[in-house]
Amino acid sequence: MSPVKARRKATTRAKKQSRWGTILDADPARALKVLKRLKKEFPTANCALEHETPHQLLVATILSAQCTDKRVNLVTEDLFRKYPDVAAFAAARLSQLEKDVKSTGFFRMKARALREMSQDVLTKHGGDVPRTMEELTALRGVGRKTANVILGNAFGIPGLVVDTHVKRLSNRFGFTEQQDPVKIERELNDLFPKQWWTLSSHLLILHGRKTCAARRPKCPDCVVRDLCPSADSF
Ligand code: SF4
Repeated sequence: MSPVKARRKATTRAKKQSRWGTILDADPARALKVLKRLKKEFPTANCALEHETPHQLLVATILSAQCTDKRVNLVTEDLFRKYPDVAAFAAARLSQLEKDVKSTGFFRMKARALREMSQDVLTKHGGDVPRTMEELTALRGVGRKTANVILGNAFGIPGLVVDTHVKRLSNRFGFTEQQDPVKIERELNDLFPKQWWTLSSHLLILHGRKTCAARRPKCPDCVVRDLCPSADSF
């Protein structure tokens, strides 16, 4: 192997190690410092999906898969006028609902999920969105991530959402080495104080979007650079 190739291979291996392997430092005190610093950076961090009821938040969260919050809010403005309650979504004509949510992408799958989830809420829970992880994830079209959004933001029950940003950042911070969202959630739940679970997702997502992007994180501009074991390693 040429010296250049060998150097490139070693560099790649070092980067992989520093990203995913050798930086695990699950220290609760450091984790809390990171969260507090990010809270200062994003003092109004909150759920960006507009809603007035837990069911509307469920609808918006289902629509937000592979779609921006801004686009979802545009779509739901009309959608919630047209389908004002759970019963209206449950009785919707599938082909019409597909048209109504088309601009959010994956519209066939999403329309079916909205209708079936609403039918479940209506027939199994009397029209009220349930308040436990078990009952929420038993609704058709609702996974653990969506359930945590609802628990944390509609009911004030701590719920830590692990999306692509939370997954990437929690690895970069050395909070976990896991890649599986359920395992990451479990480890972050152990690391963060419970009252921070819901907010921590919002903070990590905002920081991931603004500064710690997947490809080119802006480490020199980062407010938690001194607390991050991955700083400047990209
Ligand atoms: S220092 Fe760099 S890698 Fe660490 S959180 Fe900030 S932007 Fe991300």
